[in-house]
Amino acid sequence: MNALVEKWPGDSYASRPVELSVVIPMYNEHQVIEIMHARLTSELVRLRVAYELVLVDDGSRDGTPRMLADLAARDLAVTAVFLSRNFGKEAALTAGLEHACGAAVIIMDADLQDPPELIPQMMQAWKAGAEVVCMRRRSRAGESWLKRFSAHGFYRLLNAISDVDIPPDTGDFRLLSRKAVDALLQLNERNRYMKGLFAWIGLPTTVIEYDRMPRVAGATKWDYLSLFSLAFQGITSFSIAPLRLAMATGLVTALFGVLFTLWVVVKALVLGDPVQGYPSLISMIAILGGVQLLSIGLVGEYIGKTYYETKRRPVYIVRDAIRRGEAANGLCSKFDWSAASKDRYAAAE
Ligand code: UDP
Ligand code: MG
Repeated sequence: MNALVEKWPGDSYASRPVELSVVIPMYNEHQVIEIMHARLTSELVRLRVAYELVLVDDGSRDGTPRMLADLAARDLAVTAVFLSRNFGKEAALTAGLEHACGAAVIIMDADLQDPPELIPQMMQAWKAGAEVVCMRRRSRAGESWLKRFSAHGFYRLLNAISDVDIPPDTGDFRLLSRKAVDALLQLNERNRYMKGLFAWIGLPTTVIEYDRMPRVAGATKWDYLSLFSLAFQGITSFSIAPLRLAMATGLVTALFGVLFTLWVVVKALVLGDPVQGYPSLISMIAILGGVQLLSIGLVGEYIGKTYYETKRRPVYIVRDAIRRGEAANGLCSKFDWSAASKDRYAAAE
């Protein structure tokens, strides 16, 4: 899919080793780009690490792509990846991770809800041996109680019914070591529920608590419907508990049906009570019909997932990419793919 990136010829700047990559997916974020870049850069410069910023434009419809190209021309440390359309945050993150070449990779939102000032602490935990440093939200300023309540309930439900252990109240803000990134990129499912994938790979994890800030500017891309859909994705990607629930519901209703029939027969034969069941018949048909359709829908959801997986389409398509240093130096480089992503790539083509 990224034939364009693969054709980058060799150069010197872009092949310098990078200690830290910061991956940021962006969708219509022109209002925050400058301020985010300034704050992030000042923090990273203070840290004195060899860093790169991998900024992924997820098919934005505002000034984001132009501003990213601009930034890449100005700042040697910026790699800008432009996806061909809006693929969603999970795909944009995957694109970012595949294009990052740091020994450690930090993922964060563009809107500064995840404060860059925490990066030194994350690096410290990584140097102390953690392969994954998870950032856990102690508080979520600027988010409604309904969002907080539903997020809380969802993580607990998912942990209860799936075999992955997702630390509650952690978002995508985290540090991954090279080992963790390579492990993650080996998971080549199309349907990428990142929080679940992060948890699935295991590896020694350190959790750090922080206060989540409100957005600096712009608006959230998630409404309740898309959050619900993400939650449903999460559950159906990591658990078949809903299928079991459908089966259990079927069992219970069937048992109830048998008992009810026995009772009707006994009533008619022994007590001589004529069967007068129109209302109960209709309600039974309605309830059972509902349960059946719901269960078929649920099974369909899993079949649909399998259908999408078997197509083995790439997770995203890159329209254009500017590698760090490239725009500023007029130099290009062949991309530094990890072995894992090369395989993944060959499979996708
Ligand atoms: N995002 C993206 N593609 C999308 C939606 C969102 O790349 O289709 C990015 C967005 O630009 C931001 C991050 O994902 O950097 C988180 O989005 P947002 O701040 O809207 O989510 P919230 O913090 O409200 O959960
Ligand atoms: Mg946000």
